[in-house]
Amino acid sequence: MHTATEFRLEARPRLPEALERLDALANDLFYSWDHGVRSLFARIDLRLWQKVEHNPKLFLRRVAQARLDQASEDRAFLAEYRRVLSAYDAYLESEPGTEVLEALNPEDSLVAYFCAEFGFHESFPIYSGGLGILAGDHCKAASDLGLPFVAVGLLYQQGYFIQTIDAQGHQIARYQCHSSDELPITPVEVDGKALTVSVPFPGREVHARVWLARVGHISLYLLDTNTTENTDEDRELTLQLYGGDSATRISQEMLLGIGGTRVLAALGVQPTVWHINEGHAAFQILERCRMDMTEGLSFGAALESVAGCTLFTTHTPVPAGHDIFPRDLVEHFLSPFLDHSGLDFDAVFGLGSKNGDQSFNMTSLGLRGSRFHNGVSRIHGGVAARMEGDIWPQIPAAENPLGYITNGVHVPTFLAPEWASLFDIQAPTWKSELRNPTFWQFIDKIPDYHYWSVHKALKQQMAEFIVRRLKRQHKRNGTGHSVTERMARKLVSPENDALVVGFARRFATYKRATLIFSDLARLERLLTNPEQPVVLVFAGKAHPQDKPGQQLIKVIHDLSMQPNLMGHIILLEDYDQAMARRLLSGVDVWLNTPEYPKEASGTSGEKAAVNGALNLSVLDGWWG
Ligand SMILES: *Cc1c(COP(=O)(O)O)cnc(C)c1O
Repeated sequence: MHTATEFRLEARPRLPEALERLDALANDLFYSWDHGVRSLFARIDLRLWQKVEHNPKLFLRRVAQARLDQASEDRAFLAEYRRVLSAYDAYLESEPGTEVLEALNPEDSLVAYFCAEFGFHESFPIYSGGLGILAGDHCKAASDLGLPFVAVGLLYQQGYFIQTIDAQGHQIARYQCHSSDELPITPVEVDGKALTVSVPFPGREVHARVWLARVGHISLYLLDTNTTENTDEDRELTLQLYGGDSATRISQEMLLGIGGTRVLAALGVQPTVWHINEGHAAFQILERCRMDMTEGLSFGAALESVAGCTLFTTHTPVPAGHDIFPRDLVEHFLSPFLDHSGLDFDAVFGLGSKNGDQSFNMTSLGLRGSRFHNGVSRIHGGVAARMEGDIWPQIPAAENPLGYITNGVHVPTFLAPEWASLFDIQAPTWKSELRNPTFWQFIDKIPDYHYWSVHKALKQQMAEFIVRRLKRQHKRNGTGHSVTERMARKLVSPENDALVVGFARRFATYKRATLIFSDLARLERLLTNPEQPVVLVFAGKAHPQDKPGQQLIKVIHDLSMQPNLMGHIILLEDYDQAMARRLLSGVDVWLNTPEYPKEASGTSGEKAAVNGALNLSVLDGWWG
């Protein structure tokens, strides 16, 4: 992959002058929530748009010149192109709203937001699940509000894995390299030179180049170690999201926390608020202390000053979500950095150790290095306060300073365009009234038949999507045509419109995807009632090292292939944001059955709710 032995000749299409700005639209993640931009690409060549999986940059590389030339002479297309561009320009020119201006002065405030994953859109696969989607939604919402905001993350060349499920129901994880010119990023330059930062590692410096992802008004900087300045091994440090072993993990976290802080410093960016989104990014605290100490502060004073403008969010009570590193690993990796810093290893280790034990917990570091801390729902706030209570041994958990802020979703991203169009007609100012409950009473005035027809149309689109995906998946697996037809039958028979229940999220065991099968005989009766048939649709990835999670997939696969249940249980592979949008807007019921109180917030049910689907859930997370 790194040796340049392979040469490929590709004739790249040239954008006609009249369509020049398609390039700008492809380089701004604005497309991830603006349906108008995405439809422009689809209109030029729908088949290609589907083939490149809605990736605008890849689309512009592959599209036939003739298609572009044709579009540049098509009046109707040009009119739509101009309408989309003027909406885009108006968005970019919009000023912060009064809400923001009342809270802060954008001239001298800046929020820096650090996270290990960001999920904006299926074309940019540097996310694994809810944490990343939330981080993406935060960036989008910050852009909409005009919040002074800058984000920092890592660019993973392979990102998270692509999932296939074979004929036996085994998950197969495949990684695919994404070259930078098929992602919505551009290299960052300072004084005409590519920006790189370096971080001391055992026996060497590791260098990272820096990319910019534009998200409307805001910038996301991504570090990438795949540069010729590094050894082959170091070039692979940022290859995969949540891949490798604990040495890979701590290395990535040093790059994110220490390297990321160095990127902002190199750009002359001076945040006034630092948000650490989950423990992965907590090493930024050490780099910021180091910087303060070069100005003459003691460690204690530096930590005090750093913590005073730092906010830490913890996202899960589940152990796999908290990085805990053994002492010798931390010492080995951090020593070169600490040696030049004036920071003492024992003092640093103390920030991450719990009850004086010999391991280093990134959540503890995040909590001790911040003055503001939160969980992600009311229930989780309480759980986290008890779980982390030993950080404040003198305070009872109920009174300690770990509070909560309930996670939300970015409505323009997850609301189906069909609903948006209906709202545009019925209540044109809806976009600026998202948090005004009285405003939304207008929904009750929409005639039921109208409301229902939008839902039915979305359900139909979802059914077509599911059938397409089912066929692709089972053709590859060698499943016979007639079997695939039987699987799809209940979904596509309008005469006995089946109730569709969706369950799609990471296959982590605590989410209990198979709970609904506890009483299989009863479930079978309910699903196969000829008067009121029901279809359950499942999708999700299990982490490649999570064998029990993969076992859940196998159980659902096997049930879906049983003749008596066939067509009533459907398992789709490769859950991603595109599939999420389809399912969440098309199902009748969204099912959520986690083990209480482990679903810290969950957000998919919120996405279902904004699309008018019923949310059926255990009283946990946001729903509690
Ligand atoms: C919203 C979302 C999630 C999070 O779902 P939960 O209900 O919080 O588990 C995961 N993956 C994708 C693609 C999503 O859109």
